[in-house]
Amino acid sequence: MKKLTILGSTGSVGEQSLDICDNLGAGIVALAAGRDVAKLEAQARRYRPEAVAIADEDQYNALRLALRDTDVKILAGRDGVCEAAAMSGADVVINAIMGFAGLRPTIAALEAGHDVALANKEALIAGGGLVTKTAQDNGARILPVDSEHSAIFQCMQAGERQDVRGIVLTASGGPFAGKTRQELADVKVADALTHPNWSMGAKITIDCASLMNKGLEFIEAMWLFDLTPEQIEIVVHRQSIIHSAVEFMDGSIIAQLSVPDMRGAIQYAITYPRHQSFSGKRLSLTDVGKLTFEKPDMAVFGCLGICIEAAKKGGSAPCVINAANEAAVDLFINGRIGFMDIERLVAAAHEAIVLPPPRSLRDIETADRLAREYVQSQYDHGKGTVVS
Ligand code: MG
Repeated sequence: MKKLTILGSTGSVGEQSLDICDNLGAGIVALAAGRDVAKLEAQARRYRPEAVAIADEDQYNALRLALRDTDVKILAGRDGVCEAAAMSGADVVINAIMGFAGLRPTIAALEAGHDVALANKEALIAGGGLVTKTAQDNGARILPVDSEHSAIFQCMQAGERQDVRGIVLTASGGPFAGKTRQELADVKVADALTHPNWSMGAKITIDCASLMNKGLEFIEAMWLFDLTPEQIEIVVHRQSIIHSAVEFMDGSIIAQLSVPDMRGAIQYAITYPRHQSFSGKRLSLTDVGKLTFEKPDMAVFGCLGICIEAAKKGGSAPCVINAANEAAVDLFINGRIGFMDIERLVAAAHEAIVLPPPRSLRDIETADRLAREYVQSQYDHGKGTVVS
C-alpha cells in the first residue's frame, strides 16, 4: 500500500489526486493547501493525515480551531508547506501547487529523498537546473503528471533512451484555435476560462487559451527528458486523444492515447511502472472516429514563440517569462488588462530583463520577483491604456 503526500490538495489536480487515492487505497501522510480552510478541514477529517499545512499564515488559527478535536499536526506558511513536503513516510509527493510557489516545496521533497509526481510545471520552468540536480543528488525521481509529459514518459518505456530521435508534443489548440489577433483582443475572461477538452484550474486554462501553456510544456519537456529544442515538435491535435508521442531512430513513432482525464496521468505517476485498473472512462477509437493534426499558428499565438526563444536562450529567461506570465494572467483574471496584453507583457519582460544564469534558489527567486515587478510597473504606467 503506497503512502502519499499531496501539496495543493484543495485545487483541481489535488482533488483528482485524492480521488485516485480512494481508487488505489493509498494512505495520506500530509496535505497542504493555499487558503481554503473549510475544504482542507474536510479532507483532513476524511483522510486523517499526520499533518496539514496551510500556505496562508493568516489562516493558521482558523485551521487549528477547526481541527482542535483531532491529533492532526497543523503547519502554516511557506515553511510549513515545505515541512509537509519533506515529512518522512511518503512514497510519492504529489505537487499540485499552482505557479512559482511550488518551487520551494518541490526542492524540499526532493531533498528529503522523496519521488515527486510533478503537476507544478512552473517549478521546472523557473528552476529546471536546480530541481533536476537536487533530484539526482538525492536519488529521487521526478514523475510527470502533466498529461503530455506522462504520455512521453509512458512512450519512452517502449525503447532505449539513446534511440530517441525526438518527441511530438500535442496541443488541443485551446478555446481560441482558428481566431485572428483582432478577434482575440476582445475576448472575455469567461471565454478564456472555457476549455474544450480539459477541466482544470483558472491559471492553466488561461495559459491554454494563449498557448503559453504549450510553450511552458516545451521547456518542461526539455528538463524532464533531457531534450534540445530541435527535438521537440508541437502539433495541434484538437481531439486531445493522443497525449503526445516519441519518435525513435528507426522512424517508429509510439503514441499514448486515452480519453482526456487528468486522473489517468496522476494514477500512472503513482503506480509506475504498472498500468493498474482505472475508475475513469475507457477510450473507444470507433466512437472518436477521426483524429486530426495541424501546425500551431505561431503568428496568432505569440506566447508560444516567446517560450521557444526563452528555451533556446536558457539561463534565467524561462524563469522571467514564467513570472511575467503569472503576473499578467493575474491581471487578466481580475479584469485589469485585455487578453492580448498577456502576450505583450510577457514579451516586454523577456526583452527587458536579462540576467545571468541562476546559480542558486535565491537567484531564481530574484529573477521571478524582478519580472513580476516589471509587469506591475508596466501596468501602473499604462493604466487605462494597457487594455487593448
Ligand atoms: Mg498539459
